[in-house]
Amino acid sequence: MARAAIDGGRPSRRREREGPARTTLPGGDRRGRDAARRHRSRRLPRRLGAVRVDHGRGHSRRGPRPHRRRARRGVAGRADRRLPRRARPVNRLAALLGTDRPVLLDGGMGTLLQDSGLADGDPGELWNLENPDAVRAAHAAYAEAGARVLTTNTFGGTRPRLDMHGLGGRLAEVNRNAARIARSVADEHGLLVAGDLGPTGELLAPLGTMTPDDAQALFAEQVEALVEGGIDLVLVETLSDLGEADAAIAAARAVAPDLPIVVTMSFDTNVRTMMGVRPADAVAHLSAGGVDAVGANCGRGPEEMELIAAEMVQARTGDVLLVAQSNAGLPQVVGDHFEYDATPADLAAHAERLAAIGIDLVGGCCGSTPAHIAAVRAALA
Ligand SMILES: [Zn+2]
Repeated sequence: MARAAIDGGRPSRRREREGPARTTLPGGDRRGRDAARRHRSRRLPRRLGAVRVDHGRGHSRRGPRPHRRRARRGVAGRADRRLPRRARPVNRLAALLGTDRPVLLDGGMGTLLQDSGLADGDPGELWNLENPDAVRAAHAAYAEAGARVLTTNTFGGTRPRLDMHGLGGRLAEVNRNAARIARSVADEHGLLVAGDLGPTGELLAPLGTMTPDDAQALFAEQVEALVEGGIDLVLVETLSDLGEADAAIAAARAVAPDLPIVVTMSFDTNVRTMMGVRPADAVAHLSAGGVDAVGANCGRGPEEMELIAAEMVQARTGDVLLVAQSNAGLPQVVGDHFEYDATPADLAAHAERLAAIGIDLVGGCCGSTPAHIAAVRAALA
């Protein structure tokens, strides 16, 4: 799915640009302009950034979980902060996807748009207005690679993020067009369209000033436009804060009560999100909140994603589906841009391991391309 497409996206191969000072977390600018936007997480507060995961360590994975799960959820889970626990008679996403598992999602969008000439510093969302053919071509490349779900080019489509580029006034148009573009490609190939929501770029109180209602309103206006453009499901991704996830879920539920909701978080800080959420916490909390699928995206590469996936599998309750969309490794600075170090074959082998432990939806995030998705498809065939 998309993750962020570039800026939606995903990765940027360009030199990282420092945005204007947008203070958010102490010592960090992850939520700042380019960091969040491009799914980077490099500038962590020192005390967090210093903690590194030992990539070489063998991890103990518990045994695979069979794919057919108990029909009823018995989650108890952790306290659900804002969302009322709600009975969901069936998993709406499972009903939409049918029985084949894992389902193949798409990969990064940003790099593809930059390769098509998106100017450095311009948001990928701008091209939903100004260069829809390039956005369409990126979706078509993923469709041809075998993705079953296309993710709209709207990762940075909330008002605060569009405002950074003077596009806030065109929010409805940006998001509606994005959904229509993805819809047109999906219809040619018989695929689904995920309407993509990324972090707002603002922090909830008390770290920031945004209230839960503010956050819900920001997500709601984006979802409304995406629904007008014809999405099949709502994908909220790269989140760090469960409170922000709850706001997005509430918005999706209010605006589009019939659409499946998928929420993925980025566990890029010692296998927790920047806000300290562990994979098992996310699965418990979001499952109890009634999402159809929960998972991890972005992060620090396939190896760490497999640790996260194993923890999510252990924490799964009921019929919630699990999602993993790893970056194509870690970005390495090469000359004046970033390159990601996982090859298509690397991501394909990774996807096979995810499938073996019972992950239901597999795709890529930053640095992944149609070539990666095609390799995953071949491996999972
Ligand atoms: Zn990413």
